[in-house]
Amino acid sequence: MLILVCNVGSTSLKYKLFDMPCTDILVEAKTERVGRNDAIFTYRNNQNGFSEKLEGLSVPGYADGIRLFLRYLLGEKSGALKSMDELEAIGFKTVLAKGYYGVHELTDEVLAAMEAYVTVAPAHNPPYIEAIRVFRSLLPDKLMVGCFETAFHTTIPLSRRIYALPYEWYEQYGICRLGYHGASHGYIARQIRKRAGEHFRLISCHMGGSGSICAIEDGKSVDTSFGFSLQTGIPHANRAGDMDACVIPFLLTQGLTMDQIMEGIGKKGGLLGISGVSNDLRDIQDAAENGNERAALAIDAFCDSVVKYIGAFYAELGGMDYLVFTGGIGENSVLVREKICSRLSCLGVKFDREANLAVRGEGRISTSDSPAEVLVLPTNEEVGIAQIIHEKVSAGELSP
Ligand code: ADP
Repeated sequence: MLILVCNVGSTSLKYKLFDMPCTDILVEAKTERVGRNDAIFTYRNNQNGFSEKLEGLSVPGYADGIRLFLRYLLGEKSGALKSMDELEAIGFKTVLAKGYYGVHELTDEVLAAMEAYVTVAPAHNPPYIEAIRVFRSLLPDKLMVGCFETAFHTTIPLSRRIYALPYEWYEQYGICRLGYHGASHGYIARQIRKRAGEHFRLISCHMGGSGSICAIEDGKSVDTSFGFSLQTGIPHANRAGDMDACVIPFLLTQGLTMDQIMEGIGKKGGLLGISGVSNDLRDIQDAAENGNERAALAIDAFCDSVVKYIGAFYAELGGMDYLVFTGGIGENSVLVREKICSRLSCLGVKFDREANLAVRGEGRISTSDSPAEVLVLPTNEEVGIAQIIHEKVSAGELSP
């Protein structure tokens, strides 16, 4: 069963094609820096070995990125499909929709429920809705499935989901911690279960364009740095993360409009806001190396925030057996991992600097006698999504 999974990140579009139940990736492709004119497109057909990397592309929006990918998917040399009829379903790592958790066919009702939460996920729902609409217009008869990111966190106890706000706001408006990155933290939890068996305490650090830390006990989410919206938690590429709510009314009294404030929090904040350099950690690391103090400050603020959550979750879990780094930053930034791990000896981390420098893809970056095992694990949210869709189609719960 050919299933294409599309992961619409806040700054990227990623695709993986599977022939389920086999989890081998037939095609993988990615467009980074969507919205800029120095975008990078990489494409690889693992069946015939074709691969290509294009740099300096102009990809103003998600529609442009999708059309580019589909041209390659059907291309003479690059292609894995002769026609789109061969594809059974397209799965999306959707973020949230009002009243929908778990896995749902992306009907007009579900899209409307995603629209209803655009203000909660302004950086995610609009590109997802746009991407899904582009796919629906290009492939109107194809089964499109959303695997919502909030589902993994429904196991968090209410005492950690509830905000200390009037209780009616929780009852009437559903204001509480929802949590995101469920596909990634869920995948990491399943990988750790393969090593550790049923019982383990895991802190999973997904650090990419968006970042979140998740406390996982025996495979279940028990806390997350993300809150009601994706504007919370650790600093993101260009979103603020945790901040004081009273900053907003104060800035209103200083003459800023709500749109300007929300733009500052949601688009011009995070690593970009502090550094003033870029929303891409690679650029910020380069600037810091060249003496840019704000770039160095952005990296320090990011690492401090991650360390704070790890400490808090260590206490909640009553210890830590595994610490995992994943996502674009977690998998690739030697510097960020070093800055974080070198401060965790008090939590049982014996950090292995050499291993951290050497790791490519998957690997251990703690010493063999470290009480807590620290791993770099590439996330594979797409495999999880393809598996779920295959299961649901096979059980007759979804029909292509
Ligand atoms: P998204 O959350 O948009 O899906 P990713 O998980 O792919 O994004 O993470 C993208 C981020 O990963 C980039 O913005 C960049 O900051 C970081 N990144 C990627 N490669 C590297 C690298 N080699 N060194 C440092 N940071 C990197």
